[in-house]
Amino acid sequence: MMAVTFPIQHRIAQHSVERRGAERPGPRTETAGLSALRYTLAYQCYATHLLAVPKHPYAAMENWGLSVFVEQKILLDPEISSFSYQMDLTMVVVHEICHQWFGDLVTPAWWEDVWLKEGFAHFFEYVGTDFLFPKWNMEKQRFLTDVLHEVMLLDGLASSHPISQEVYEATDIDRVFDWIAYKKGAALIRMLANVMGQAVFQRGLNDYLMTHMYGNAARDDLWNKFSEAMQREGKDINIKEVMDRWTLQMGYPVVTISKNESLGHAVTISQEHFVYDMDAKMRDPELANRSLPCPPVIMVAFELRVL
Ligand SMILES: [Zn+2]
Repeated sequence: MMAVTFPIQHRIAQHSVERRGAERPGPRTETAGLSALRYTLAYQCYATHLLAVPKHPYAAMENWGLSVFVEQKILLDPEISSFSYQMDLTMVVVHEICHQWFGDLVTPAWWEDVWLKEGFAHFFEYVGTDFLFPKWNMEKQRFLTDVLHEVMLLDGLASSHPISQEVYEATDIDRVFDWIAYKKGAALIRMLANVMGQAVFQRGLNDYLMTHMYGNAARDDLWNKFSEAMQREGKDINIKEVMDRWTLQMGYPVVTISKNESLGHAVTISQEHFVYDMDAKMRDPELANRSLPCPPVIMVAFELRVL
């Protein structure tokens, strides 16, 4: 068993981290989570410890100031370890460090919103790893294939489920830690950041963390902060109204654009709930009648100049 201690400066911008007691060096992950969060508030704990253990039921587990990893998820020899191993290991360590903010500093109010911490940690894995190893270009190259495309495969099944799931008993808790929580959570956060604009998204997220630090928060608390951030920009958009359609129901839409010959130079844009098994909608009317993320369900045809 080996403990690696990284005393961390309280100002993230300094990125000055001193490594002590590391017999076998891990990757330069000590600042990764912090860089991912460089636009949010400073690290609040006096230090963070990364502990390698020979056995653990999970790849790693975040605790306030002490994250625990199985050895193969934190120890490597840069002289002989492959790039793919280094990538994998870096992502895991960055993920756990991000949990110091999302999970430890601000904890989901209830298990139904466990995606609030897992989605953010998974999203910032890519941002933080890009900071450490920009040449890997993880966010641009790997997010779409490893996160978005993978979860679309799952969420396109008629047997999928909403990202926010009811949890009534302790035995339900393990069930909610699935790829929908991690990958769809990360994909929705990335989508929202792109829609809001990075700067506005950062301000809303910072406000959320500052307001709820050392406490609990639910998804509506996050939506409210994002809505307020948009309103400060003069954009009256209710983020809760938009995001409830993505989080309280399963699946995602498929958009069809077709040229309407009878209307001349016009196209009709429509959307419907995408499922791989089209017969499933006939078997289950609820599946066919879902409200879709972007109202209105069918957009009015508009004039489009066809070149
Ligand atoms: Zn996690």
